[in-house]
Amino acid sequence: MTKENNWPSKPCLAPLTSVNIMPNGQYRPCCWFWNKPRKDADGNDLPNHSVRNTTLDQYRNEVLKPMYKDMEQGNWPESCFKCNTKARSRWDYYERLYSDVRTELSDNVGLRTLDLRFGNLCNASCITCNFTNSSYFDKVQKQGYWMMEGENAHIPDNEARKEQISATMNWYEDPSVEADIINKLQDIDHLYVTGGEPTINPMLHKILQHLIDDNRASKITLEMNTNGTNMNGKFASLIKPFRKIVMFSVDGYGELNDVMRFPTKFSAIEKNIAKCKEQMGHEDRLLITPTVNIHNFFALTKLYNWCNKNGYRVADRLNILSQPHWQNIAQIPKSQFDEQLTKLEQQGQVKAAQEMRIRIQNKSAFAAKESANNKWNHNRQEHKEVTWQDSLDLTRKWFESRGYDLKLTNIPDFL
Ligand code: SF4
Repeated sequence: MTKENNWPSKPCLAPLTSVNIMPNGQYRPCCWFWNKPRKDADGNDLPNHSVRNTTLDQYRNEVLKPMYKDMEQGNWPESCFKCNTKARSRWDYYERLYSDVRTELSDNVGLRTLDLRFGNLCNASCITCNFTNSSYFDKVQKQGYWMMEGENAHIPDNEARKEQISATMNWYEDPSVEADIINKLQDIDHLYVTGGEPTINPMLHKILQHLIDDNRASKITLEMNTNGTNMNGKFASLIKPFRKIVMFSVDGYGELNDVMRFPTKFSAIEKNIAKCKEQMGHEDRLLITPTVNIHNFFALTKLYNWCNKNGYRVADRLNILSQPHWQNIAQIPKSQFDEQLTKLEQQGQVKAAQEMRIRIQNKSAFAAKESANNKWNHNRQEHKEVTWQDSLDLTRKWFESRGYDLKLTNIPDFL
């Protein structure tokens, strides 16, 4: 247990109602839980609980339900430290959804939320991503495109290491894991999926088809992050019967999105989003969820214009990239940063501008820039300050290698 005492007043419902399978196949109760290496009584390393060594039932019965009972006694796992806060926590989310289960015996509560992060099978190599999260980086590197060294697009320099990473991420290919998950869906009412790119993941197709065949789709909320490249007839009909929250990871309007989410094509994504909108019921939600960073910050006005024109809502809480540090908007010179926020405010995006101001500027006046310095290249162990000029140079290399005009970014230095 940690020393501060801002723990919630009641035990958390996540261990009773929810399981999150991480990209490497490890289990945890929720996405805020910080899995730590396991040790035996003598301090020796034990493998963490994962789909490879533990079934869903075993994990729930042997780990999660005892965890709930410990919380009832006031013993909170250290791994829950993020919920030990005065601010609104993930605990609240489960309390809002599932407080009804408190009337049941904890051993009888079924699995209600399944949160699946499908390894690194993806069809894009985004400027803010890396090989561990997208196997597509390997392909793009072999085609000769420039890759950022260090944190961004670092790809292991030998095939054995690549295979080792992929082998930890491809749990969704294991038929016994698939069977175990499909057999435990009877109480599910919320399915969150992300990737890689979940829409191309065969296991997701099978799970959705199973729930449709079981006549349960209309009772289940399917929440999904997607890059928008796949909304073909088959997939569109698979998601249609579900309650839906579909979040499209679109970073920019037009060719800016193409280069940032290389080699996807905005023209196709635009059609797919329109097709998805046709599938949406009154209570479904379609959101555009850009990852805000130096490459799209100055072009956000165009993205908002496109969203407004088409009636798409941008997620209220912006995903503002913190790492790799060279892409963090805290790198931007303050005068340029303020000027762009004013433009966004004048365009009516007051809330978005405020959020960026609060999260970057007011946090000790560009504190993130401090952390950017000295940290940019873990792999080479270089402690080199990252300047705005470095950020511009690296951006230039990425764009020029892929044949795109730097003016797409609208960064004043490139105009
Ligand atoms: S207390 Fe917070 S971190 Fe712990 S299981 Fe609940 S929601 Fe997750």
